[in-house]
Amino acid sequence: MDQWHKSVCILCACNCGIEVLTEDRLFKRIRGDKDHVASAGYTCNKALRLDHYQNASDRLTSPLRRKDNGEFEEISWDTAIAEIAERLKAVRDAHGGESIFFYGGGGQGNHLGGAYSAALMRGLRAWHRSNALAQEKTGEFWVDAQLHRGHTAPDFEHAEVSVFVGKNPWQSHGFPRARVVLKEIARDPARSLIVIDPVRTETADLADIHLQVKPGTDAWCLAAMVAVVVQEDLVDHTFLAEHTTDSAQVLEHMAHIKVAEYAQRCGVSE
Ligand code: SF4
Repeated sequence: MDQWHKSVCILCACNCGIEVLTEDRLFKRIRGDKDHVASAGYTCNKALRLDHYQNASDRLTSPLRRKDNGEFEEISWDTAIAEIAERLKAVRDAHGGESIFFYGGGGQGNHLGGAYSAALMRGLRAWHRSNALAQEKTGEFWVDAQLHRGHTAPDFEHAEVSVFVGKNPWQSHGFPRARVVLKEIARDPARSLIVIDPVRTETADLADIHLQVKPGTDAWCLAAMVAVVVQEDLVDHTFLAEHTTDSAQVLEHMAHIKVAEYAQRCGVSE
């Protein structure tokens, strides 16, 4: 019998609440869960295509082993696991666990590694590991650690001023109810949306200010903006004194930036 189930989309960190109508193993219909406290019925197109990811005709349903002629043959899970375990054990015994690099079990959509990776690595005495977040998020985590000593999430829902640099959340989402929030900001005369992007995106179209920099020059644009704040003394000195150390060095540096030159370099009028 058809049945609606409550669940969440795990394809990005927003984890929107969804309701899924199942029929055997198929997701017959998917809709946003209006009762979900964070997403309140919102989803992007990715959640609505979950049945495609789950049941597309080219999805693998059994392990494939390469044959001598280069073609693949289907094998059972028991066979695959036994053969892989045998070979990994041989590598461990011949070269030590440190010669094995575990890759996987990253962030959203990759939670499964959490269930088995620790046990597998212990069994192999492996200790090198990485995952997709190392490629995607190293810079973000590093900056977060330097500035905030931990991970932070922006609160665009309530922000007075939102700045997006080379990002189009209308399409990429990445924060809760992205399209709804972007439209709310655009409609509210008391809030501003600033987009720094060489491309005229949907988000740029909604922006109060679109700084259409030349590709690869966003650093000059950002530096010039900070320099204006410093050189026109629009700085909140009390905030800096309470929340930062050594800001004088940064202010001193910014005081000497040639704003006109930087503006010309990034292709944005001063
Ligand atoms: S924004 Fe899209 S991908 Fe992210 S959790 Fe929500 S529905 Fe899934």
